[in-house]
Amino acid sequence: MQNRWNEEEAQAFGKDDAQAQIHDELLMRVYSSRLLGADPALVLHGGGNTSLKAQVPNFFGEAESLLYVKGSGWDLATIEAKGFAPVKMDVLLKLARLKKLSDSDMVRLQKAAMTDPAAPTPSVEAILHALIPFRYVDHTHADAIVAISNTPHGAQTLREIYGERVLYIPYVMPGFDLARTVFEITRDVDWSRFDGMVLEHHGIFSYGQTARQSYDRMIALVSQAEAYLKSKKVNQIAVGAVSPKADPIALREGSPKADQIGVGAVPEELNLKRLAQLRREISKLAGTPMIARFDRSGEARSYSLLPGLDKISGQGPLTPDHVIHTKRVPLVLEDDLSIAEALRHYGSSYQSYFDRNAIGTNLKRLDPAPRFAVWKGQGAVSFGVSPKRAQVVSDIVRHTMRAQQWSEGLGGWVSLPEKDIFDVEYWELEQAKLRGGGSVPPLQGKIAFVTGAASGIGRATVESLLAQGAAVCAVDINPEVKKIWKNPSVLALEVDLTRPARLVEAVKNTVSTYGGLDIVVANAGIFPLSQTVSKLDDETWNKTFQINLTSQMQLFRESLPYLSEGIDPTILIVASKNVIAPGPGAAAYSASKAALTQLARVAALEFAPLGIRVNMVHPHAVMDTGIWTQDVLEARARNYKMTIDQYKKNNLLGVELNSRDLGELLATMAGPVFSKITGAQITVDGGSDRTV
Ligand SMILES: [Zn+2]
Repeated sequence: MQNRWNEEEAQAFGKDDAQAQIHDELLMRVYSSRLLGADPALVLHGGGNTSLKAQVPNFFGEAESLLYVKGSGWDLATIEAKGFAPVKMDVLLKLARLKKLSDSDMVRLQKAAMTDPAAPTPSVEAILHALIPFRYVDHTHADAIVAISNTPHGAQTLREIYGERVLYIPYVMPGFDLARTVFEITRDVDWSRFDGMVLEHHGIFSYGQTARQSYDRMIALVSQAEAYLKSKKVNQIAVGAVSPKADPIALREGSPKADQIGVGAVPEELNLKRLAQLRREISKLAGTPMIARFDRSGEARSYSLLPGLDKISGQGPLTPDHVIHTKRVPLVLEDDLSIAEALRHYGSSYQSYFDRNAIGTNLKRLDPAPRFAVWKGQGAVSFGVSPKRAQVVSDIVRHTMRAQQWSEGLGGWVSLPEKDIFDVEYWELEQAKLRGGGSVPPLQGKIAFVTGAASGIGRATVESLLAQGAAVCAVDINPEVKKIWKNPSVLALEVDLTRPARLVEAVKNTVSTYGGLDIVVANAGIFPLSQTVSKLDDETWNKTFQINLTSQMQLFRESLPYLSEGIDPTILIVASKNVIAPGPGAAAYSASKAALTQLARVAALEFAPLGIRVNMVHPHAVMDTGIWTQDVLEARARNYKMTIDQYKKNNLLGVELNSRDLGELLATMAGPVFSKITGAQITVDGGSDRTV
């Protein structure tokens, strides 16, 4: 394990920062916390925590002993000084002496003991940090240590590795009980005899009088566990490597078994359709739409083909706190198995797991859907309500797959008994979060595809869809689209819609990135400079039809296989008011949009049996779009013998329409408000005697 400490960097850390007034000790606390957070083999996504004990003068000038401990919701990799909650040490030490305390009360009392009410909620491991009589305390869930712990002789092996260098704490659920256990065990212990403390099936603590000492010890201790794995030749199995025996690619090349496994034999398209089905069925079971993150790395695929996969994956997570993200076990999916069947089985075994462990409690069962699937021969698929959440699950799964293989090499992966996992999954603090509820954005977990997304209505629509919780593939011919949309919930692609191959690729890319497709917004279009029919050239006519009509038909056709596996799927078409009320000088535009409307009406008829809604908007004079160049504006205004300003507000309500109005409308049409409407055409023009 790499020691990332850099003395020069540490000295300079935070010095030009606005928070430089924070005393140096806290700056060093931030610095080394970030070093820990930088290594995913130590902590993942909000895992682990660190603290500092300091004497700080209070408002009255009296010195106060405080524990600055990581606040919940902060990630070590990016933590700042304000991410540490200052909690009074005397209160924490008093709490440790209590015989009994519920975790909800512990959290409440810790919050009440903060000297800054605006600070984040202190970590649930705060009391534990307070008990260790050193200034700096670091805690991680290092993969190597947990992997060794999760083997038949894990406790013994850890003792062989560390001997007297560390304290050993048998597994106790995190929270007050763990703090209390450590308090009891360490009452008469001379902490200075040790470099750290190993919590079985959980992680490791290191400590020191300086940030560097504590950090160096953490790295040294974890490196020792890694060296042990290396000496047993087990950690090469998985780190980025694929055993040739299990590599589906290797099997494909010249192995007669290739067909049985199906990798390569299954066309890409079929895989994506099955991925979309899997995502839809899991969303159904979860009761909320989910985003899927498909890990097809060699490592994930070789894991999916491990002999004894069912036994290994069916035991439980790497550390109990992962259960919140991953559920206890994955769905194991084989290609010849129906997804619905596999999920029915998963759901009923989840129900029995709940029933077995919740006896005598009034716990509320969580949804019974898996949070990841191991798809034999294909890899691992992780699920979450947003791309970010799905990525968190995916990262945890990747580390779990690795560590499980290490443990297998050490005599077998043995997770904690299911009751221990259940207790964390149904922890009162987690149940409280559930009761808190909070409003869910209407398009959370939905997946959209928007054309013409770099400007005007398309751009505004992406904004509205994102605000309502959707993940979006934003395509545009303008390469700027990639600069405009830098967001984990947006896949920005430069696509020329007149090149069907690129369109097909973009649709597939959306499905493989997010797991499916629910909403298609056919928005891209061109408005050629006004020409009367007498002067209309073939090239303008053909190009307008190509973009405004043909490419839209291709988009419908190519997205159909995935939309038909979507969740409340819908196609939204941005046509034009000209369809209903044409004006002179815009023949190519009006005719192409009228044909598009007719195409959409036919699609509404054809797609209804598949549950796909097709609705249209007919905007007029949306003045902040690219179509309305100064030239076009002048020409149109001239046609109606008006000034530009009169032309802009030339409607019954006398209002000027903008892209945002359309974006909000389209996002609403994509959502539940329109779930029973198809074939509708909405004119968005401020009202006009030609269209009402
Ligand atoms: Zn922990």
